Amino acid sequence: MEGTSMPKGTGLLRAVNEKRVLNFLREHKTASRQEMAEALGLSKNTVSLIVDKLLRDGMVQETGLDTTGVGRPRKQLSLIPNAFHAIGILVQDTACEFVVTDYLGRVVESGIHPMNSTDSVDCLSQIAELCLSLEKEYPRLLGVGIAVPGLVDPIRGIVHYSSHVGWRDVPVVDVLGERLSVPVIVYNRVKAAALSPTQVIPEQASSTFYIRIDEGVGGAFVIRNKVMHGASWTAGEIGHLSVDPDGPRCSCGQRGCLESLVSLQVLRRQLCERIGVERGRTEWDRVFTEGWRAYGREFGDILHKAGEYVGTGVATIVNLFNPQCIVIDSPYGEIVEFRDALLAVAEQRALSFPFQHVHIQFMNSQFSSAIGAALGVILSESPQQI
Ligand SMILES: [Zn+2]
Repeated sequence: MEGTSMPKGTGLLRAVNEKRVLNFLREHKTASRQEMAEALGLSKNTVSLIVDKLLRDGMVQETGLDTTGVGRPRKQLSLIPNAFHAIGILVQDTACEFVVTDYLGRVVESGIHPMNSTDSVDCLSQIAELCLSLEKEYPRLLGVGIAVPGLVDPIRGIVHYSSHVGWRDVPVVDVLGERLSVPVIVYNRVKAAALSPTQVIPEQASSTFYIRIDEGVGGAFVIRNKVMHGASWTAGEIGHLSVDPDGPRCSCGQRGCLESLVSLQVLRRQLCERIGVERGRTEWDRVFTEGWRAYGREFGDILHKAGEYVGTGVATIVNLFNPQCIVIDSPYGEIVEFRDALLAVAEQRALSFPFQHVHIQFMNSQFSSAIGAALGVILSESPQQI
């Protein structure tokens, strides 16, 4: 598990195999001991010992007999989803979003927890209090996943830099580890969110490129439920892909980065200029989610242009990574002008064979970073995993 303490030697092996059995059941819903032994490359005896322990601990249940194959009917096993919970938290400047999920990643509780300080020590202390109070309600807690905007080393559990919350070199896992008895993982917020769209991608998809467009633009490549972090934690940073060499200067120094062209902040400003109405941030966000049709043509033009820019980025992803799925998670992900322009430009610019085979999915999800952070806890298998 990333940045967490785990048992060593044979204890570690047993813990890893137990996690693999649980993950197999989570993905396949039901399975027999024999099927799991074959699929995981373990002996039937090892699987039986693990299953016996999980049955004793009330984590799995026998759900009937499979009589479809030849030979003796096999007992089918399934998870008891409520046997485990995981907490996911997205840290922001004035509040944190939190979710509690069951072992299948379904949200059983969510909320916004106000934070009255941006000092990292105070923030983490408030987060620890929140986790301890949730642990009272959900005693079989697998762990806590923390998502933070910025540069995060998930292996050492350190937030190197976050301009959004003003943190620098904060050892999140060590600090929370002193207060909590369960494993803690820390992720970049987009890398965490990249684990969240399990509901919208086809079950057999093994590689997904996830793009989040909101106040900023970020991305992550996920292969078989593992997020690629990169050698120095910035893999998938699509926000700084330049899609217009004559575009505006970005904070990174380049011109025409996606982030400087299509973030919520930029689109809000363009709307203000074009429509000539001053509005607060929340009012504009309501325009995006509910009232955009009232602004007709002007709004459509802005969203169409944004879709074209993202389409250029999507074509690059299709050509470079050839993923099975691309997920675009954004407040305007479901607006038709944006989608149509994006798909048209991506089709025009990408190589045609991989484009014909990629599944592009749009979504607009709240709490995706917090849910993804909780899923990161559920999916983690070993301390070396990156
Ligand atoms: Zn940039």
